[in-house]
Amino acid sequence: EAKKQGRNQVEFFKGEMQESFEKKMRLEAGLRTALENNEFELFYQPQLNVSLGYMASAEALIRWNHPEWGMVSPDEFIPLAESSGHIRSIGAWVIDEGIKMAKTLKQHYPRLHRIGLNVSSVQLRERNFVEQVKMAIEKYNIDPSLIELEITESVVIDRLEETIEKLSALKKLGIALALDDFGTGYSSLNYLRRLPIDRVKLDRSFIQEMDEDPKKATMVHYIIEMAHSLGLKVVAEGVETEKQMQMLNMLQVDKVQGYFYSRPITQEGLFTFVDEKYGEIQL
Ligand code: C2E
Ligand code: MG
Ligand code: MG
Ligand code: MG
Repeated sequence: EAKKQGRNQVEFFKGEMQESFEKKMRLEAGLRTALENNEFELFYQPQLNVSLGYMASAEALIRWNHPEWGMVSPDEFIPLAESSGHIRSIGAWVIDEGIKMAKTLKQHYPRLHRIGLNVSSVQLRERNFVEQVKMAIEKYNIDPSLIELEITESVVIDRLEETIEKLSALKKLGIALALDDFGTGYSSLNYLRRLPIDRVKLDRSFIQEMDEDPKKATMVHYIIEMAHSLGLKVVAEGVETEKQMQMLNMLQVDKVQGYFYSRPITQEGLFTFVDEKYGEIQL
């Protein structure tokens, strides 16, 4: 009986592996035509200045409306897009679309500080990446400080010298830079000092436990202090509860982002959000 079960188990795993492999292959094939079929969409998640109570900025998060599978999560397809090279064209689309949105939203909502756009390590390493960003800014004729590129911490540590050079060239365009998922790589404080960044985005793993684990809260406290003393702003990601928000406000975090205020929403949804909820300073 046990032996029989064991074999079923093996067959079950083989079946699952086969399925996930096939799904991967089909997703990858789908990536080839997704752009021309307009299957991508940018959603936006508000970032709030808690102490003043208004939306200061928003992060663009890509969504793939797959004709067969519905919404495919970026955690699922971005790695595939990176390994297959499709990230170059998808990334260029994100930059164009995000900058266009920044322009429209700023006209509608002058209080907007910026729109954050995620950049993959593969994109960042492209030789003409800086030129690409520059052209998009010129195309829409926007104030470059309205755009912030988010680069993941682990990428930076991998190739520090190369990254510093790239980021410095991007800074010269006048855009802002943020270090995403901060605290998940090894945050040797030494590299932080050398990066030409404006902000760190404190990873959600710190935030989610800070209202239950005093040690986590202490870490958050010191990370915020350290960042501030280096002249960096801090955005807290993944704020889900009022208690987390209040603690972060007390610790003088600069901005918060998370389900507590809003999930990522459509472009239209973001306009409604500022019109109806957080466009005004609410003291
Ligand atoms: P990220 O840049 O760290 O984005 C934050 C992720 O956390 C988003 O997931 C967001 O929906 C989620 N999130 C926000 N607030 C909360 C919260 O309160 N609780 C929880 N549990 N989650 C929250 P999403 O949209 O699925 O994106 C996942 C990742 O995919 C992003 O992580 C980013 O690394 C990547 N990504 C998204 N859009 C793009 C893009 O346009 N280009 C590239 N290269 N990567 C992207
Ligand atoms: Mg991000
Ligand atoms: Mg993040
Ligand atoms: Mg992430």
